[in-house]
Amino acid sequence: MDALPVTAATEAPIFDPAAFRLTPQEAALTARARDFGRAVLAPRAARWDREASFPTDNYRDMHRAGLLGICIPEEEGGLGAGFRAYCLTAAEMGRYCGATALTWNMHVCSTLWTGVLTEDLDLPAEARAGHRARRRRHYDRILRDGAIFSQPFSEGGAAAAGGVAFGTTARRVPGGFLVSGRKIFASLAGHADYYGILCTEIRDGSDKPSRRDTLYLAVPRDAPGVTVEGEWDPLGMRGTVSRTLVFKDVFVEEAAALMPPGLYFQAATRWPHMFMTLSPTYMGLAQAAYDFTVAYLRGEWPGMPPVKRRMYPTKQIAVAEMRVMLEQTKALWFQAITDARPDPTKDQVLRAWAAQHTVMENAAALAAKAVRTCGGQAMLKTLPLERIFRDARCGSLMLPWTAELCIDRIGRDALYEKGETDD
Ligand SMILES: Cc1cc2nc3c(=O)[nH]c(=O)nc-3n(C[C@H](O)[C@H](O)[C@H](O)COP(=O)(O)OP(=O)(O)OC[C@H]3O[C@@H](n4cnc5c(N)ncnc54)[C@H](O)[C@@H]3O)c2cc1C
Repeated sequence: MDALPVTAATEAPIFDPAAFRLTPQEAALTARARDFGRAVLAPRAARWDREASFPTDNYRDMHRAGLLGICIPEEEGGLGAGFRAYCLTAAEMGRYCGATALTWNMHVCSTLWTGVLTEDLDLPAEARAGHRARRRRHYDRILRDGAIFSQPFSEGGAAAAGGVAFGTTARRVPGGFLVSGRKIFASLAGHADYYGILCTEIRDGSDKPSRRDTLYLAVPRDAPGVTVEGEWDPLGMRGTVSRTLVFKDVFVEEAAALMPPGLYFQAATRWPHMFMTLSPTYMGLAQAAYDFTVAYLRGEWPGMPPVKRRMYPTKQIAVAEMRVMLEQTKALWFQAITDARPDPTKDQVLRAWAAQHTVMENAAALAAKAVRTCGGQAMLKTLPLERIFRDARCGSLMLPWTAELCIDRIGRDALYEKGETDD
């Protein structure tokens, strides 16, 4: 079991409310996440990792603590966090258990995207009223019953990267849709109550599937035709249980639409920071790697002999380099999550990609450096560092903004204005 040392470093917020001028709501939510993370997430994290099992107990406690409804608007019974407040809170959660924070993100997106984000988008009044009525049902299930939502988008091709329409399809039938397809890496598979899938509506007479026809539907876990396949025995983020989901002519009622038709496409094009929500977990892991290193070199990690290693110049240099990297990561990420808004400028989008790339790559680099600096005993499975190291390595792979795709897009968009070619 991991115990957390009480040191100035691990007690401190990642983003000090006064220094970063957080709102009172952000300060309160991040403090709540930190308390929850230390008390509930940290002691259990090794178990989910060892067993590659889903952190069900954590979700029960997160429901009790109100955290499942963090982004549900206050007037609808939730905690009313906006994009930045959520990101800052999720970073604190990621510090203590990467797999819980990452799966919590999949759940929270089903409320963030349907809540504050949708309020920023264009929608005729009647469609907006219908959307609010439908989302109310989803929110009630979360707040009352502790329902958990997942976010299976990936299919193994270019769709989750944003290149083509999703291969999972929905056809209109009386009262709803028939859904067929396959989602890989579906975190929470077999554990979420609803799978919030992205799929393409196939219209009679249309010649080819279009990204504009993307639907975001909540498929109940036990709907006939839904199956979970395959093993889950990965390098890191083992508690996410990201197995394959198969949908075969699954009927979902019309009210299962988490967004009205066309709205996901509008969100993806007008609110691109929505794709940054996978990064807070890794911001937290970056901080955790640094905190561990400081506590360990000071000889303050519980259960370890109180041997100090901080007096060696090479250790001091390594910690200084880690601190520089952590501060760079925090500063860029904080600015990017502060930039988030509908219709951001080109600079803001370039910065969002740079921030995503930086957090994902630097979390892994910081964890690797922590292992090298702390030394052999620090990578034993009785300590959290080797789990942080494995979890952190997964961040760069998360579509649609993988570290590679961020670099591709920054390079292209920095050199070309919209519509420009070399012909
Ligand atoms: C721990 C973990 C949890 C996950 N949870 C979820 C989840 O809950 N929901 C979910 O939807 N996904 C999830 N994913 C999946 C993740 O987002 C990716 O979809 C997955 O890692 C892709 O694997 P792949 O081998 O198919 O990827 P890749 O081959 O890297 O990419 C898939 C496709 O994207 C395109 N692409 C990739 N790189 C480039 C490039 N440089 N240039 C152009 N095109 C490119 C290609 O078409 C490629 O076939 C998770 C992944 C991990 C590691």
